[in-house]
Amino acid sequence: MQTRRLYIDPIHPETELLREGVKWLQAGELVAFPTETVYGLGANALDASACSKIFKAKGRPQDNPLIVHVCNRMMANLLVEGWTPQAELCIQHFWPGPLTLVLPKRATVPDIVTGGLANVAIRMPSHPVALRLIEETGLPIAAPSANLSGRPSPTKGSHVWHDMKDKIPLILDAGACPVGVESTVLDVSGGVPTILRAGGISKEQLEAVLGEVWIDHPSENQAPKAPGMKYRHYAPRGEMILMIGLRERVVQLMVEEIQRGHARLKKVGVLCTLESAPFLHTWLPDLLFVLGSEDRPEEIASNLFEGLRLCDERGIDLILAEGVEEGGLGTAIMNRLKNAAGQHIQFV
Ligand code: AMP
Ligand code: MG
Repeated sequence: MQTRRLYIDPIHPETELLREGVKWLQAGELVAFPTETVYGLGANALDASACSKIFKAKGRPQDNPLIVHVCNRMMANLLVEGWTPQAELCIQHFWPGPLTLVLPKRATVPDIVTGGLANVAIRMPSHPVALRLIEETGLPIAAPSANLSGRPSPTKGSHVWHDMKDKIPLILDAGACPVGVESTVLDVSGGVPTILRAGGISKEQLEAVLGEVWIDHPSENQAPKAPGMKYRHYAPRGEMILMIGLRERVVQLMVEEIQRGHARLKKVGVLCTLESAPFLHTWLPDLLFVLGSEDRPEEIASNLFEGLRLCDERGIDLILAEGVEEGGLGTAIMNRLKNAAGQHIQFV
């Protein structure tokens, strides 16, 4: 299948370009589009056969459910059986935005969307292209990240092109996604609201509105509430080590690893903060990618997946990544880094 890539204005999307997306979505085909978090791979959420194409294009396991994107409350009402008071509060404060709510589903939602679960995950994105595309299509859109399963999520049109070229008919390319990490997935189906996946809205932000919020830590002998979390995610091709600790120690360990790597003829890449970069560039890693300042986690979040993908593009064999402080957006950043490193973490 030939893939068209249309460049669309991120703030004032051109109607004739949106209509191209509408045409494919209404015909049961896939369209990749930007959201404020990452690029999504969208299909009509009410059409099981359209949604099955998402799993095929991504190579996604069937039991990893999809997030459904809506553009208004009425559309959300078609999907959700009952709203809890916590869900109402979340909608008031955080929609449109990077917060996905998990709630009991209506029968209209096909099983393939929820992986057979009784709950559906829904969110209203704030990106003008995503919102207008859903509005013009007039349908809820199921959309996971538009990457091949297991690979770093796409935060630029070029990332989607790399992973989805020849697999889908259309990519709407609006440049970089502003947030850069996926939405927070929050179970508000009853009881204490529980974070199933850390993301663009922090636990602290949620607590300010909801009071107590739990974090789901799936145990070995219990089925995970967010089945997707059990799979390897965000993985670059090279081996990756995440280093956590004082700057001097992290820098020292990185220098040792660069030298050891080079002695074994490996290409070594470094992903680090702006503050650590001056101490590392003199040791000539094959790639030094500055994620952003440690004082601006939103900058680090928006560059993270680009950094991981660049390592692949440059054929890096060993990636050394500097950890950031947990808390706020830092928790989502560290979740992605730990996953990308396959839990290969060194505390120094
Ligand atoms: P992705 O689409 O790759 O950003 O991942 C979506 C995440 O949301 C995965 O971790 C899923 O397990 C989770 N999720 C989606 N739908 C549901 C649902 N109905 N119940 C619980 N978690 C869900
Ligand atoms: Mg994903």
